[in-house]
Amino acid sequence: MGEFELIRRFFQRPARRAVLGVGDDCALLAPAPGMQLAVSTDMLVEGRHFFADTDARRLGHKALAVNLSDLAACGARPLGFTLALALPGADEAWLGEFARGLLALADAHDCELIGGDTTRGPLNLCITVFGEVPAGQALLRSGAHAGDDLWVSGCPGQARLALEALQGQLCLPPALLGALQARLEAPTPRLALGQALRGIASSALDLSDGLLGDLGHILEQSRVGARIDTRHTTALLASSLPGLDALPPELLRQATLAGGDDYELCFTAPPDRREAVQAAGRASATAVTCIGSIEARHGLRLLGPDGNMLTERWASYDHFAAR
Ligand code: ADP
Ligand code: MG
Repeated sequence: MGEFELIRRFFQRPARRAVLGVGDDCALLAPAPGMQLAVSTDMLVEGRHFFADTDARRLGHKALAVNLSDLAACGARPLGFTLALALPGADEAWLGEFARGLLALADAHDCELIGGDTTRGPLNLCITVFGEVPAGQALLRSGAHAGDDLWVSGCPGQARLALEALQGQLCLPPALLGALQARLEAPTPRLALGQALRGIASSALDLSDGLLGDLGHILEQSRVGARIDTRHTTALLASSLPGLDALPPELLRQATLAGGDDYELCFTAPPDRREAVQAAGRASATAVTCIGSIEARHGLRLLGPDGNMLTERWASYDHFAAR
């Protein structure tokens, strides 16, 4: 199977919303009047972002999900995406499963594959997504104000527990491991929530590297500080799946604060919009939990198990940090 047959068989489908899809030198998108294009790129590298034996269908899902999560964090609606693939070979069974996971998520969010590039090389998946958002309404990292509530969607920390178990550092009952592994390998991009939060949230981002590190971006770009009550974050994780409450609370706390790969939204909103945030959560069938507040004083303050202030230094994942 040559390069062009591979593209035609697995990735070429008739254009729907795009003016022109796969097959020419460029795809053509026609943004609606009054809309801004939201664009984001994320790359997944074998051995770095996923294990070599990861299920191909889930990998297809995740490659797109992490990109859609960026659109969600901006409150954008997906339009289309491009796929740049380096493949060690044309393994038809693998490609079939990969495309199935990828295109199922794409269809679920009406986000069409409009182009890409295919080359031979170590397995590497790079997607660029395009979305639209009404001009001036994108949710940004820079809008948090002192006094705002701090919220998260879902249960940050689940993906980290799965990773610890898969790396042999934590022993979990099979059913629990399976549920956590599904969160790690097939995260849910919170698109409906992101769009519902337009005009309500003052700032937002998605959690890819861990709550504390990612929140740090909001704090820096909004020039504010924050306080998190880790009793809320730890309890959220402990109660999210049967059996998790049996794990050491300190492990749960660390997973919620420093664990990456959750692709939940972290956002801020004024306290008088609490009801509106809850309504956005209900409308998008997504759990939202207030975990703290934004403060004028710079820095991050963490309340520990007894309501005391934690003093440890926490670091989120940084690909180029000195180790
Ligand atoms: P060019 O030589 O102009 O870069 P290619 O020959 O690489 O174009 O690709 C041919 C067409 O197939 C283009 O429309 C390109 O966008 C599309 N394409 C290539 N690889 C993929 C892929 N993995 N998924 C979707 N479309 C792809
Ligand atoms: Mg090319």
